[in-house]
Amino acid sequence: MEPFRTIIEPFRIHAVEPIRMTTRDERVEAIELAGRNLFAVHATDVMVDLLTDSGTGAMSRDQWAAIQHGDESYAGSPSWFAFLDAVTELWPFCHVIPTHQGRAAEKILFSVIGGPGKVIPNNTHFDTTRANVEATGAEAVDLVIAEGRDPSAIHPFKGNMDVVALEGLLAARAADVPVVFVTITNNSGGGQPVSLENLRAVRAVCDRFGVPLFLDACRFAENAWFIKTREPGQADRSIPDIVREMASLAHGMTMSAKKDGLANIGGWLAMNDDHLAAACRNLLILTEGFPTYGGLAGRDLEAIAQGLREVVAEDYLQYRIRSTAYLGDALHAAGVPLVRPFGGHAIYLDARALLPQIPPLQYPGQALAIALYVEGGIRGCEIGTVMFGRHPDGSEGPAAMDLVRLAIPRRTYTQSHIDYVIEVVQRVAERATDLRGLRMVQPEPPSLRHFTARFEPIA
Ligand SMILES: *Cc1c(COP(=O)(O)O)cnc(C)c1O
Repeated sequence: MEPFRTIIEPFRIHAVEPIRMTTRDERVEAIELAGRNLFAVHATDVMVDLLTDSGTGAMSRDQWAAIQHGDESYAGSPSWFAFLDAVTELWPFCHVIPTHQGRAAEKILFSVIGGPGKVIPNNTHFDTTRANVEATGAEAVDLVIAEGRDPSAIHPFKGNMDVVALEGLLAARAADVPVVFVTITNNSGGGQPVSLENLRAVRAVCDRFGVPLFLDACRFAENAWFIKTREPGQADRSIPDIVREMASLAHGMTMSAKKDGLANIGGWLAMNDDHLAAACRNLLILTEGFPTYGGLAGRDLEAIAQGLREVVAEDYLQYRIRSTAYLGDALHAAGVPLVRPFGGHAIYLDARALLPQIPPLQYPGQALAIALYVEGGIRGCEIGTVMFGRHPDGSEGPAAMDLVRLAIPRRTYTQSHIDYVIEVVQRVAERATDLRGLRMVQPEPPSLRHFTARFEPIA
C-alpha cells in the first residue's frame, strides 16, 4: 500500500505562543513605519514569521529539562563537557571553541587566516561569511556548480562545489588561499545539499595543493538526510555515521547552533590544527569568553548538547524535509516560480521570474517580500540584489538570483499555518503584474545593508 500522504508532526504541542491576528490596514502602516524593510517590522505585527530558521525553532521538553542542569561555573563547567561530548560525538575534531553564534566563529577564524591579498573559495558564501571574509580585506569567491546558479535546473546536489573551477583557482593562487570552505547545506544557493562524493573530490584537490578544507556546517543534519535519501549507496547508513564521514573529510568547521543545533543561540569553531586553535582561542578570550564557555551560558551549552542528539533522529529529519517540500510542491503546482529541487530549510521564490517588470536594481525580491507581508502578514527574506548587490569596490550590480526565502523554523508551525502561507503566496502571485520596484533611501548602510536599509516605492 502507498504510505499516507499527510505529514504528521513527530511531536505534540506542550506550550503555546499566541499569534496576534492583524488586518491589511495595520500591516500597510507597519511596513511603512519600518521603511519597507522587514527586518524593522515588530515581530508582534507578523502572523507567520518565515524570516529565518535561525534560532527561531521550538526547543523540546528534554532541552528545557537540560537547561535546568546548566552549570554556570566560569571554568570547566560540567555543561561544557556535556556540550563537548555531544559535538565530538558527531564532529571528532581535536579543538572545539564555543562561540555565541556562527558569525563569531567566522570572525575569529578569518581574523586569524584572512587579510588583504587572500582569497577564500566557498560553494556559496553566506552573507555573514562573505562579510567577515571581506572585513579582513580578503576576497570571497563563490564556486558552486553551474546548476546551483540556475533556479530551475534539477540536480540532486545543487550545492556541490565546481571542482574544476576550484582546481583552476588553486593552480593559480594556492599560496593566497588559507582555507577552502564548503557550506552544507548551501543556504544562499537555495538550501541545496552537497554530496559525499563532491566533498571527497574537493578534499582531494585541497590535499594536492596543501590547503585545508573547512565546512560551514550549519545544516549538517539536513545535508546528511539528503545524502542518505539521494546519494547512491548511502540509504542504509545512520545519520550520525554520515555526519562523521563529512567530518573526516574536513580539517575544521564553523557552526551556528541556531540551525541544526536546535537551539536559540550558540555556535562553535572546530579544527585539528594546534597552532591555529591557539591563535583562535586568544581572540576568543578577547571577544567571546573563556574557552570552556565562549559566548554562552552553561544552560545554552546544555540545550545545544541535547539538540544535537535530537537533530540526527530520522523521524525528525523525515518530517523536516517532507514538510518543507510540502510547501514547495503546493506552490509549484500553482505555477509559482521556485528554486527546485527544494532545499531542506526553506522554499525560495524566484522573484525575478515572477516579476519580470521589475529590473534587478529595483529589487524584485524586496517587492515580493513586502507584498507577502501586506497581503497575509507573512515575513520572508529577500536573498538577492538587496543582500548581495553592493560590491566591495562600491559598485552595484544584480545578484546571481533575486529570491525570497520562506525559511521554516524548526518544529514551530503546523501544516495549517503552511496551508495559509500557500494561499497567501498564490494570491500575491495572481496579482504579480501590479507590483512595482523600489529604490533604496540614500545614504545606504556601509555593510550588510539588507538589515537596516530603508526603501521607497518607485512611482
Ligand atoms: C546562519 C548562518 C551563518 C551564521 O550563523 P549565525 O549564528 O547567524 O551568526 C553562517 N553560515 C550559514 C550557512 C548560515 O546559515
